[in-house]
Amino acid sequence: MDNIKKINESITENLSSAENKKSFSYNEKESYKALIKSTANFIFIGNLKTGKFRYPLVMVNLFGFPSEVIQNPLPLWEKIVHKADWEKFYESNMEIVSGEKDSHNIEFRVKTVEGDYIWMKCCGNMVRDKEGNPSTFAGVISHLEEKNKIDNVTRLLNITEFSKNFQKKIDSGLKNIGMVILGIDNFKQVNDFHDRETGDKVLQAIARIIQSNLLCNEEVYRLDGDNFGLIVKDADEEKIVEIYEKIKTEFVTSQIIEKRKLLLTISGGCSIYPKDGNSYLELYKYTNYTLESSKKDGKNKMTFFTKEIIENKSRHLEVLYFLKRSIANDFYGFDIVYQPQISSKTEKIKGVEALLRWKDEKLGMISPMEFVPVLEDTGLIVPVGRWILRNSLKQCKEWLKYNPDFTMSVNISFIQLLDKDFLNDLKEIIKELDIPTRNIILELTESCSINSMGFMKNLYDELKDSGIRVALDDFGTGYSSLGVLKEIAADIVKIDRIFVRDILKSKFDMNFIKFITAICNDVDIEVCLEGVETKEEYNLVKDIGIDYIQGYYFGKPQSAEEIENNFLIEK
Ligand code: C2E
Ligand code: CA
Ligand code: CA
Repeated sequence: MDNIKKINESITENLSSAENKKSFSYNEKESYKALIKSTANFIFIGNLKTGKFRYPLVMVNLFGFPSEVIQNPLPLWEKIVHKADWEKFYESNMEIVSGEKDSHNIEFRVKTVEGDYIWMKCCGNMVRDKEGNPSTFAGVISHLEEKNKIDNVTRLLNITEFSKNFQKKIDSGLKNIGMVILGIDNFKQVNDFHDRETGDKVLQAIARIIQSNLLCNEEVYRLDGDNFGLIVKDADEEKIVEIYEKIKTEFVTSQIIEKRKLLLTISGGCSIYPKDGNSYLELYKYTNYTLESSKKDGKNKMTFFTKEIIENKSRHLEVLYFLKRSIANDFYGFDIVYQPQISSKTEKIKGVEALLRWKDEKLGMISPMEFVPVLEDTGLIVPVGRWILRNSLKQCKEWLKYNPDFTMSVNISFIQLLDKDFLNDLKEIIKELDIPTRNIILELTESCSINSMGFMKNLYDELKDSGIRVALDDFGTGYSSLGVLKEIAADIVKIDRIFVRDILKSKFDMNFIKFITAICNDVDIEVCLEGVETKEEYNLVKDIGIDYIQGYYFGKPQSAEEIENNFLIEK
């Protein structure tokens, strides 16, 4: 725009002398044509006396205007300018028309014929007649992305603008400014299992859905990855839930992209200035924590900031800090204990499950229920998992001298399976230790399979071919245990201990165990029952066809030395 202004000024300067004016004449229509051809921006000219405006054909086609020359175009603009920007757009134009201002410079979103909102910037100047009345209004409408403000995929303003505009609102003294971050659940899988283009289409679709479900003046931004940011004025929980629910509902019902149905959901987090934090950065951090919390808590939901969220997060970060230190320190503080698995026929040990322990000097003993999720969230479970495999299998190899059929069960997280080197690393460890694969059992949970059944099936097949056995862990606690069993023929099913807990009182639990055992016996899947703590419980289940028992009644998780003394060395 500055260049065009300079050219205009120099033209006016040169033409100002009477002599020059006489010697230079040009065809106005042709020059307009030449100008619009020389720029990707849209040059417009308006006659404020007649109310007629002329726009270039490319723009007319882009916005679906009826023709290049339009009498009083404001109602047409009203149809396509985003409702959050309309007031600003209208007022700025009226200031020119009324002669209150001589120039304007505004940024606004416009809907294209395709239905996408794009950011445009309009710089215009008004020229008055001899009497000083507004006469001509002309200028340039250009795409905003040239200025690095726009995200290329969704055409929304980007994260830099998000922080700038949020800060501006704080500086202007506004209160109750809501910061909302929306994230598509499991978006990584769209990119992993489909392709990048589908991923982009999903992002564009969600951008469109968010923009068409706002209540009034909320601003929408594309942040990083699959996250979108909203700035909500006069925010309260009720208003934000209303916006979120609208978006969520439309999102689940409109997910057919290129004839493929994607089962995606969207989670959200929110914090409000100044109630929850004093600065943009503080709020941004907290809003991300709340989104994380929604995702951990089952996804497809909105979470608001609370003090507990920071407390949990700081504990998480503290545990992570010390875990990293332990790992870097050659796994110092990590240990493996072994819990016996007893054959119900012989009441003798048939193998053990390796269970990870971690003791930090400052934090003390931490339960795997707490630190394993931290390892999984950060991907650190991959190197730690390799360490567990190498050490537990080494131990197993030693114990084969007591019983060549002895088995070592090792827990494997879904995150480990996603690691492309998993199978190779496993094979390498097996080769290095020279241990028969029939002595190895990998325990996987149901959550490993539902997300990506096809991918998991291939992995199971490869494991089977190599002779390693697979146990389906925590059976009965997920959403579709039986479905998973049908798809993936595990060698062993481990019925979760929640069914044993109330077995003496609950007929349902007893029947569930019997039913699953009968089905598994029928199709040659072995059954291991977890969590048997007392003699009474054992007596109830020992004759119903269960193959193995694992529980405190036969032995708690214990050190390798204790396993040898208590179960392996004959006295
Ligand atoms: P899990 O794989 O289901 O392991 C069985 C858990 O049940 C163990 O808890 C064990 O101590 C406990 N348990 C066994 N018998 C009884 C019983 O009779 N009564 C009661 N109340 N509990 C019993 P632990 O060692 O605290 O491990 C908890 C979870 O942490 C494991 O559940 C597993 O999901 C995870 N975990 C532990 N070690 C590893 C590991 O090496 N890798 C991975 N990925 N996860 C691990
Ligand atoms: Ca297990
Ligand atoms: Ca289990």
